[in-house]
Amino acid sequence: MIEQFYDIKPQVLALDEKAMELCKEQFAATERIRDYNQIKMLRAFTDCGVEARHFWGSSGYGVWDDSRNKLEEVFSRAMGAEDALVRPQFMSGTHTIAVALFGLLRPGDTLLAATGRPYDTLEGVIGIGEAGKGCGTLREFGVLYDEVPLTADMQPDYEGIAKKAPAAKVLHIQRSRGYTQRNAFSLETIEKVIRTARAVNPHVIVFVDNCYGEFTQTREPLAVGADIMAGSFIKNPGGGITPTGGYIAGRADLVEKVSHRFTAPGIGKELGCTQDSLRDTFLGFYYAPGVVCEAVKTAIYAQCLLELSGVHPVPRYTDEHNDIVTCFDSGSAEALQGFCTGIQKGSPIDSFVTPEPADEPGYTDKVIMASGSFTEGSTIEISCDGPLRPPYTCYLQGGVNFTAGRAAVLNAVQNAFFRD
Ligand SMILES: *Cc1c(COP(=O)(O)O)cnc(C)c1O
Repeated sequence: MIEQFYDIKPQVLALDEKAMELCKEQFAATERIRDYNQIKMLRAFTDCGVEARHFWGSSGYGVWDDSRNKLEEVFSRAMGAEDALVRPQFMSGTHTIAVALFGLLRPGDTLLAATGRPYDTLEGVIGIGEAGKGCGTLREFGVLYDEVPLTADMQPDYEGIAKKAPAAKVLHIQRSRGYTQRNAFSLETIEKVIRTARAVNPHVIVFVDNCYGEFTQTREPLAVGADIMAGSFIKNPGGGITPTGGYIAGRADLVEKVSHRFTAPGIGKELGCTQDSLRDTFLGFYYAPGVVCEAVKTAIYAQCLLELSGVHPVPRYTDEHNDIVTCFDSGSAEALQGFCTGIQKGSPIDSFVTPEPADEPGYTDKVIMASGSFTEGSTIEISCDGPLRPPYTCYLQGGVNFTAGRAAVLNAVQNAFFRD
């Protein structure tokens, strides 16, 4: 059917058919996760008694914003948190993580990254090396930083964690891969990291960067012992609908603590108006389990199709999925550019644009990216990117609708690996 709309070569169509057959079991497994999470979500809405009036927001200070409180109650219920900050004033995932870390840490405390070097943008927040110098990094406020690198096979180094955890005030765990070629960590792995650290330091505060992880499994990191976690609404929990915002959720005392960094010391979570953001945030969150399932199915299909095309993606389509990202070495600048062009062509917005490599702040090599999304920069919608240097690694993520995601991926694979 796709060939009635796109010019797909017979040998590529044959791979598509084979991939759809091979993925059946994995698709069924991710649909079962969706079903569980969707009913959990429905119960969260009904148990919390969400009413149509809760779509009306506040202006100005936003004190006594009962609708915002209801949103945070529903969010907490669905995510297994005691309390949460769910706010449109969070402008990115990095912002939520920065607020959480600055809220939890004081001068002289140590932040320990237990799962290797954190996501690129956090280097500036923490003040690793020269990153963020002069911007008021954690380091410039007297917070110490240490990390336990991953082992050669990209697993947590439990011995290293046990050795360094006694000195840590906050333990940082990153669930998704960021720009490293590893699979996202399973909840079992996260649980083992937490147990290892708590065995030597029962009071350590465990923070999880949950970006890209929400609703990929039936539980969230708080269920395996994490104290607090953060994420972005233009990724998984916004369901492709919520246009901005982020969350910090977990233990009530810790959410309270970080809320004074979110607003101002002494003010806490009582302020923060919602204007007209609430309906879109409730709606996107409600849809998120289904949308994340579409994205995971798009990832599984892409991983299978790439493998059938002789490329080795991480993870494999048969692996467990704890995020919505696929990475693979495309092998050449032409293949990387071809792949990105195919994704762009298969996006609903700006499909006529041809992605060009460009300089990006913080990167030494040129970067190419494809994103034709309803929400600017949204990565729950289908998108991909990669730096123009060998081995030309490409990161593919998202897809709010599997049928459309499949068409985009098929176009991209043909463009990259079946040019003649
Ligand atoms: C996307 C992401 C972030 C940062 O989110 P931004 O919205 O890009 O600031 C942090 N950590 C991980 C693992 C991510 O995937």
